[in-house]
Amino acid sequence: MFFSRQRIEIKTSGEIEAMRMAGLVVARALHEVSQAAAPGVTTAQLDECAAETIAEAGAKPSFLGYHGFPAHICTSINHEVVHGIPGSTELREGDVLSVDCGAIVDGWHGDAAITVEIGSVQPEIRRLSEVTQTALWAGLAAARPGGRLSDIGHAVQSHVEAAGDYGIVEDYVGHGIGSSMHMEPPVPNYGRPGRGPRLVAGMALAVEPMVTLGAATVRTLDDEWTVVTDDGSWAAHWEHTVAITEEGPWVLTALEDVRLP
Ligand code: MG
Ligand code: MG
Repeated sequence: MFFSRQRIEIKTSGEIEAMRMAGLVVARALHEVSQAAAPGVTTAQLDECAAETIAEAGAKPSFLGYHGFPAHICTSINHEVVHGIPGSTELREGDVLSVDCGAIVDGWHGDAAITVEIGSVQPEIRRLSEVTQTALWAGLAAARPGGRLSDIGHAVQSHVEAAGDYGIVEDYVGHGIGSSMHMEPPVPNYGRPGRGPRLVAGMALAVEPMVTLGAATVRTLDDEWTVVTDDGSWAAHWEHTVAITEEGPWVLTALEDVRLP
């Protein structure tokens, strides 16, 4: 069911360069938001911060208006996993906040997410975020020519499972990205290796593990956006857009120029 027969968009190297411009805007917006996030700050203020960074770059937000989404970023606090809507909620010391952002430059999309610790968090929360982030990088490293799509999810899952007893959310997955934000193919954060489409240079994928301290099951709140864990356990979410190049994975939404060997 995961691997449909729709085509996966293959970008030229020039188009990948253009995607890097969008990715850089996303990286800068997330950096600004991470610097601004502190106890007493509202998630609406963080949205404003991202909006300014995107506008100053001459880019467009991917999220604003997407299926009616009302903001430039998603802000998900504690047991919220993804798709939280910025608003009047003030961040508190010890919260864990995931921020997801997308931007468009010349018609090309970048999409990334970070998890931010608000003040000092419990050690288990810090570890959850670290495990999720390093699992993301394990997945990104598998995005190379000659591999198969499911190698990415397998790398993510293997990393999380080796790190401890965590829940890997399965209801939401990564995706192809390029001339649209969400494209073929879906990129699950789990699975057996060596399956699905062969990875070739010119593909671009958003890899985005969502990991919880408890069970992996989630539900959507009445606002029809915010996804929370069923058991109330806290979650982390890290995401990068990566291009598959002949030389290996190029992480398009990193602040620095990161090309994995
Ligand atoms: Mg995202
Ligand atoms: Mg995404």
